[in-house]
Amino acid sequence: MSTVLENTNFRAEALRIGGEKLRTARTLDVYNPYSGERVGAVAMAGIGEVRRAMDIAQAYKPTLSRYERSAILNRAAALLRERMEEASDLITAESGLCKKDSLYEIGRVADVLNFGANEALRDDGQVFSCDLTPHGKKRKVITMREPLLGVITAITPFNHPMNQVAHKVVPSVATNNRMVLKPSEKVPLSAYYFADLLYEAGLPPEMLQVVSGDPAEIADELLTHRHVDLVTFTGGVSIGKYIAAKAGYRRMVLELGGNDPLIVMDDADLDKASDLAVQGSYKNSGQRCTAVKRMLVHHKVLGEFTERVLAKTLAWRHGDPADRSNDMGTVIDAAAARHFEKVVNEAVAQGARLLTGNVRAGALYAPTVLDRVRPEMAVVREETFGPVSPIIGFQDIDEAIRISNGTAYGLSSGVCTNRLDDVTRFARELQVGTVNLWEVPGYRIELTPFGGIKDSGLGYKEGVQEAIKSFTNCKTFTLPW
Ligand code: NAD
Repeated sequence: MSTVLENTNFRAEALRIGGEKLRTARTLDVYNPYSGERVGAVAMAGIGEVRRAMDIAQAYKPTLSRYERSAILNRAAALLRERMEEASDLITAESGLCKKDSLYEIGRVADVLNFGANEALRDDGQVFSCDLTPHGKKRKVITMREPLLGVITAITPFNHPMNQVAHKVVPSVATNNRMVLKPSEKVPLSAYYFADLLYEAGLPPEMLQVVSGDPAEIADELLTHRHVDLVTFTGGVSIGKYIAAKAGYRRMVLELGGNDPLIVMDDADLDKASDLAVQGSYKNSGQRCTAVKRMLVHHKVLGEFTERVLAKTLAWRHGDPADRSNDMGTVIDAAAARHFEKVVNEAVAQGARLLTGNVRAGALYAPTVLDRVRPEMAVVREETFGPVSPIIGFQDIDEAIRISNGTAYGLSSGVCTNRLDDVTRFARELQVGTVNLWEVPGYRIELTPFGGIKDSGLGYKEGVQEAIKSFTNCKTFTLPW
């Protein structure tokens, strides 16, 4: 038996609607992917509950001052830091992410709260003088940010059970908006935990309501309800495109899948580069939109780099997520592990070489290294959302850029070289939202702009500061001056 359950009590969660805990006849079970034990059950909203939440949100007019919003967010951060163990146990229990990953995630969530608290205090309004041209007038234009008139629908994925939720909820609170959140049905417990933390810190419950349920039943209502002004979604490309087609005349922020390369040039320090490769591939069980999903390596250093990646992969400990010494727990479920096994087997059948891994036991999937991989193989053409490292050789920087830009995705990238001319070419020519020099593609802080282009997103960014912009209307007020 896993030690997780000894630390985490079974949680039976009700919907959070208008400050009430609403139980429903039907519930959705949540299982620990490692032990298979039932760690919780959440209420299942139907269309009626979604409509009720929307009506409550629409009727409520938030009045919190900047100071009050900031204080609530800072209080929630302080509470979370006090409860780090409990909160990270919960993430580990419902997602199979190891304690190292879930503790790291809690730190990130607290950062999101603190950054949101700072931003709530900051008025980024601008003042323009109007007498700037021959036909100008002696007037001024002042810009003001206002919350949306309607409700925000937020839909989150499973991979960071609490931080994905925080990145939606915190900017909404910071801007006095009203949000209805539908967390991933795979990891709903962390979302309820986070909402309760904010209520405890003083958030009016009408500003954040949580409805878990079957997306097949309630997603369309969440996307098309007449009160919804904005849909903010993080998840896979196919559902993102479904939302884009369904939601109609509404603002949309879509943060979708990634297929990020780590590019290693022939001058790179291979010890450093292979560290980044391994961490970028296996942290969070490889389930990050910005995980290293392709290693593109200059042919002159291909052999040596591959050996180092292999040695570091063999040292990467995976197993019981609750065991603090492990570097990796499970992936989200056995079905995901079976999928990785299938695409890796396909690649091997097409000529790739399996160097280690591709071993599965339930939802445990060993970190896997493949070389002799070609860009057209499904294991790299499509997003493999797990701990798989496909290594692809290239001859020169032109080919590296061509391969990198050759998928439908455009989220992020990491580059290992010290040559300034190469660095500037990568920065200019990679078709992605982010280029990180000597860092993993996933490197960011919670405040800074983040998000992709092409199939990875419409180019609207997240990160606390950018989300605040997309969650608000910019009104201009002009006056004689
Ligand atoms: P998913 O697309 O399967 O599910 C995401 C959410 O969409 C869940 O809450 C799910 O219930 C909901 N959903 C399902 N059907 C829906 C529908 N018809 N309409 C609206 N919502 C619906 O994604 P996942 O498996 O939970 O997460 C993995 C994916 O998320 C990967 O592709 C990953 O790259 C991506 N991701 C992207 C980012 C980013 O910021 N770009 C971050 C993390 C994860």
